[in-house]
Amino acid sequence: MVSEISQVVPQSPSKTEAPKDVILEVKNLKKYFPIIGSLNNKISQVQAVNDVSFCLFRGETYGLVGESGCGKSTTGRTILRLLEPTEGEVIYQGKDINKLKGNNLRNIRRELQMVFQDPYSSLNPRKRIGAILEETLKIHKLGNKKERTEQVMNILNKVGFQKEHYYRFPHEFSGGQRQRIGLARALIINPSVIICDEPVSALDVSIQSQVLNLLEDIQEDFNLTYLFISHDLGVVRHISDRIGVMYLGKLVEESPTDELYANPLHPYTKALLSAIPVANPFVKREKIKLIGELPSPVNPPKGCVFHTRCPFATDICKQAEPVLKTIDNGHKVACHLY
Ligand code: SF4
Repeated sequence: MVSEISQVVPQSPSKTEAPKDVILEVKNLKKYFPIIGSLNNKISQVQAVNDVSFCLFRGETYGLVGESGCGKSTTGRTILRLLEPTEGEVIYQGKDINKLKGNNLRNIRRELQMVFQDPYSSLNPRKRIGAILEETLKIHKLGNKKERTEQVMNILNKVGFQKEHYYRFPHEFSGGQRQRIGLARALIINPSVIICDEPVSALDVSIQSQVLNLLEDIQEDFNLTYLFISHDLGVVRHISDRIGVMYLGKLVEESPTDELYANPLHPYTKALLSAIPVANPFVKREKIKLIGELPSPVNPPKGCVFHTRCPFATDICKQAEPVLKTIDNGHKVACHLY
């Protein structure tokens, strides 16, 4: 099923030159969730993220795409240790985040922030926005009362609010404004990396464009690196320098954005791209239909995890798992066809 993937945002001028300084590296990350039986024993496990490796270059936007349930959000949360990883490393500034504790972990968390799909649920309805944002500074023991207020005013201004918004309550803001508050809360402690988890999925198309443009402006001003998680290939194309495609907990393809859309290699990526509606009614694109449902991550298929739905599957696909290998110029694919 690929119907969830849709194109809603106009294509931006292409970004081609990604900086090459690695700021964060994910190595063989795994996140399994145990399934507990009636006797309180572990009877099985959900393999949500299964041996995923990629890196983020400083100042770039890396888009992570795939169907719902492919493990992309779990990957983002596990990188920040909002979920404890089962295995693997996340290297930031030479340190493995998964080994940090106490103050060391707290200090790193200042550098790595997250913006969620719906920030409203995490905004205290009884507090004014100014107080909510100041709380973040208090938690990290930053500044005195006057400095904190100034900093909040400054950040609110950066994300397009006026002074009076400082005194408003969360319910007085629209969906797009709340997303800007979520962004302000992430920005206020001056992070280097922001993980954006479906940040525009719940917004109207026109508001999506505003928030995406704001993300791009702020990225330049604050020298930020984004991991942008989305099921929407149209949105991801608009904002990303490189894209990683996930399927059933695995990274199956990775490429610079323009290259991926011009020359997708993995059969799954081809199917996803073929499902994007074309704006020109005279241009017809052949749709590749994926047959069958997404297999369960409790019991993923042996060999290539995509073989149960792949139109090109052969015997070797059912037996041997393909490794992610570089084909050309940063374009990697995990498929026996290459
Ligand atoms: Fe299809 Fe085989 Fe490639 Fe997997 S390895 S995507 S099953 S051709």
